[in-house]
Amino acid sequence: MYDVAVIGGGVTGCSCARYLSGLDLKICLIERSTDVCEGTSKANSGIVHGGYDARPGTMKAKMNVRGSLMMEELSKKLSFGYKRNGSLVLCRKEQDEAGLHALLTRGNTNGVEGLRIIEREELLSLEPNVNEAVVKALYVPTGAIVDPFMLTVAMAENAAVNGVEFMLSHEVKDIAKDEDGFVISTSEGEIRAKYVVNAAGVYADVIHGMVSKTPMKITPTRGQYCLFDKEVGDLVKHTLFQLPTEKGKGVLVTPTAHGNCMVGPTAEAIDDREGTNTTAEGLADILSTAAMSVIEVPGRKVITSFAGLRAKEAGKDFIIGFAEDVPGFLDVAGIDSPGLSAAPAIGEYVAGLIKDKTGVSLKSHFIDVREGIPSVTLSSDEERQALIDKDPAFANVICRCEMVTEAEIVEAIRRPVGARTVDAVKRRVRAGMGRCQGGFCSPKVLNILARELKLDPTEIQKADAGSEIIVGLNKELENAGGLSAKQSVRSAGGDNR
Ligand SMILES: Cc1cc2nc3c(=O)[nH]c(=O)nc-3n(C[C@H](O)[C@H](O)[C@H](O)COP(=O)(O)OP(=O)(O)OC[C@H]3O[C@@H](n4cnc5c(N)ncnc54)[C@H](O)[C@@H]3O)c2cc1C
Repeated sequence: MYDVAVIGGGVTGCSCARYLSGLDLKICLIERSTDVCEGTSKANSGIVHGGYDARPGTMKAKMNVRGSLMMEELSKKLSFGYKRNGSLVLCRKEQDEAGLHALLTRGNTNGVEGLRIIEREELLSLEPNVNEAVVKALYVPTGAIVDPFMLTVAMAENAAVNGVEFMLSHEVKDIAKDEDGFVISTSEGEIRAKYVVNAAGVYADVIHGMVSKTPMKITPTRGQYCLFDKEVGDLVKHTLFQLPTEKGKGVLVTPTAHGNCMVGPTAEAIDDREGTNTTAEGLADILSTAAMSVIEVPGRKVITSFAGLRAKEAGKDFIIGFAEDVPGFLDVAGIDSPGLSAAPAIGEYVAGLIKDKTGVSLKSHFIDVREGIPSVTLSSDEERQALIDKDPAFANVICRCEMVTEAEIVEAIRRPVGARTVDAVKRRVRAGMGRCQGGFCSPKVLNILARELKLDPTEIQKADAGSEIIVGLNKELENAGGLSAKQSVRSAGGDNR
């Protein structure tokens, strides 16, 4: 019997697990995918919002501002990519600057520090490539960018080191309440827990409906993106938002934590909770709308496109609290944007709710730091040599675009909550994230996974079940000999998320 079962291994569930692991409790995290960070947490803008946008007094506003304040220190403790690059909300000459002042007032009410409206001259000194029609901007110095994959993975690893059991490839099918707590039926059998934390993203209403009669309805709202080659990674330094209009919030142009440039997202309410496909219209729309922010959008430098689903709840706020009619069942639902920014605050808040309910004490031996995987690309010449002296596999470059070595991939596999798929390796060390999108390195990554996990290469998946990469023997290649040449490798390129 677990004290707490967290359902969902996105950034919300992993943050809840990480902060809960500071309490003296037996905890598990149940995730239907083969890895953490396979849902919305892998497909978003990667922005740590300052907190000027959320309605004052809402959970969104509180969690966003607190999360944004926590993020920098957390990035140092858990070693994930974070950069306080600042953001700008652009106002074009045909737009009413009253909208900019309204955001400034809202941000001040929410307690966001350092906000001010700047004129075009100062704006140009910050962003020389801004579009000619932009006359003013709201400057948000606390805005930042974060690596959403490693934020999630780092919290999962840290939770695991502190005793949380990760049950991956376990899909929750049903939940029943009994006098001891909850019986959670999963695709792999029953799990019992005294408390349940529902952090199932776009499925949170489905999980909620398994035990509660109170209404909850999540509408997936798709956001599509284009990601550009690092060659044009310095198009902008800050995150450029557009002033929202009646037609929508516009699209952003932003650097990513790893030095790419990205534009998006669209905002399309859809029925399909798995509808993460991109569309020609959606991508054309974001490219043309982004052109209102910068002098030129480098459309020919797009290396991939992807889409994520916001979990929009009708009340337009985060729902974080125990279900009224089911004692012990804690919803963390409707976590749409700014859920990534808010994640540390949400985890901290949820752990507080469980602590108050159980009266349990803090763990005396909580480990609150995590070391990152050494990166050859980010190392100095001396550091690189020291790594190679320790392990020659640091000299074997597997992914040429992102300069990722065999040793880094092996470590990603061997860690707690280690990589089991090609995409899981990609999220942890960036092999396959570069210009060729895994075209060259995926077969090598696949072979390393097979070797390390003692599996046949045909069993290695790109991501979830059914995404096996090697589908059979190719006679022509078989005659050429060698393992990689023996197999017919289906395109392993895929998207960046
Ligand atoms: C287009 C877009 C842009 C965004 N940009 C930003 C941004 O810049 N900044 C920001 O702060 N936020 C942003 N967000 C919001 C942020 O990405 C989300 O709030 C956050 O990722 C939600 O995380 P989550 O863990 O709640 O959901 P998810 O990451 O979706 O995780 C939920 C998990 O639950 C699992 N699950 C579901 N059903 C079951 C089941 N039956 N059994 C077991 N497991 C199950 C899923 O597999 C999934 O892994 C954006 C979102 C989108 C879509």
